[in-house]
Amino acid sequence: MTQPTPVMPTGPGSPQDVPPAPGQFPLDPATLPASIRDELQAPDPTAIDTSATELRDGVNRCPKCGSTEVRHRAGSDKLICLFCRHEWVGARVEDEFGLGEGIDDLRGTVIASGAKTIQADVSSLRTFKCDGCGAEVVVNTENAMTARCHWCRHVLGVNEQIDNGAVPDAVLPFHIKKDDAVARIRQFVGKRQMFALKAFKEQFSPENVLGVYLPYMVVDAKASAQVAGLGEVETRRYTRGEGKDQKTFYDADVYQLQRHVDFTVDDLTMESSAQRGNLDTKTNTNNIINTILPFDTKNAVKWNASYLAGYTSEKRDRDVEHLNPQLEDQLLSIARAQVQSSVRQYGRGVRWEQERIDVHGTRWVAMYLPVWLYSYQEPGRGRDGMLHYIAVNGRTGETMGSVPVQQWKLITAALTVGTLVEGVALWFVGR
Ligand SMILES: [Zn+2]
Ligand SMILES: [Zn+2]
Repeated sequence: MTQPTPVMPTGPGSPQDVPPAPGQFPLDPATLPASIRDELQAPDPTAIDTSATELRDGVNRCPKCGSTEVRHRAGSDKLICLFCRHEWVGARVEDEFGLGEGIDDLRGTVIASGAKTIQADVSSLRTFKCDGCGAEVVVNTENAMTARCHWCRHVLGVNEQIDNGAVPDAVLPFHIKKDDAVARIRQFVGKRQMFALKAFKEQFSPENVLGVYLPYMVVDAKASAQVAGLGEVETRRYTRGEGKDQKTFYDADVYQLQRHVDFTVDDLTMESSAQRGNLDTKTNTNNIINTILPFDTKNAVKWNASYLAGYTSEKRDRDVEHLNPQLEDQLLSIARAQVQSSVRQYGRGVRWEQERIDVHGTRWVAMYLPVWLYSYQEPGRGRDGMLHYIAVNGRTGETMGSVPVQQWKLITAALTVGTLVEGVALWFVGR
């Protein structure tokens, strides 16, 4: 921590703001030489290969008996063969690919193969030749990663890391079972009955909740930040004048502050679907998802399409380069919070006027995270109505959502209060 140096003690009647001396240090990132900045931001070629080479595309067989009836065993991280009951668990990606280590040594941009840049011309539709019967089976990776052959009932899944963003490096399996999610949603709505829309209450059927795997980027980063600004310490407080004219004055010393912090971040979770990241609260309540974070991403396992059988999914459509600016914003917030403890002695407050973040290295891993979603389309509000969600974190059970409100009930409540006040006023006028 740097020792504060007073800039100028101020006289009676303070505080006075003291403008910062110009050009203290170059804080605007845009002033960095282009070559350095580009190097910091440019994604390198894939550095960590997480492809599941032991799995073939299409048929996803039980390693013991060869059946394709492989499912996620609800409430665990395991896969189970419904035919021979063999159970096994995918390797944690942190162990398998060393993703929990070396954050302090990160340099440049390291991207796991499942997080690589999406090629616009790669179709979301994957067609497989069923090796049970030879029929062609299509999987639409926009919202599913497995499909059942209509003819011979084999289950086919997408395991190869195609460049359309659908196959991530890892998946965090559902732990909260469907009944549990239904009960949590029921309880959530139960507490908000009073003002809930009548149609919503009538149509409320939490059994229709859907298990959805949503795409995220999980990021490790090493960064430094510099902030500069002014801090004030009160030195004296006194009053002048008598009676009504009495005023209180403060004297304060104004200090010019500068802080530097080096830090690392482990498993920052960022949405990687543009639609999901959309915060337009006029048409939907998507941002609900952010309120059920965090997820225990440390336990994510290596990709295997069988984990997604029976669930829907949403394909990633944002790349590292799209998310980089948002990452820098988040890192800067973290830096501000870290610096906070070192400026507590400035009792009258601190104002940061210049900030700079230098990202030394990042590591990006694409992951599907489990969410139970109950949605309700409220007619009338906005162009196509308002889409409400209640979301349950598929690992912790944390539940949050929005319930459509019966507007007239709120209005009646407001009017009742308004009328009373108005009545009192009229009565006074009438006298
Ligand atoms: Zn088996
Ligand atoms: Zn077939």
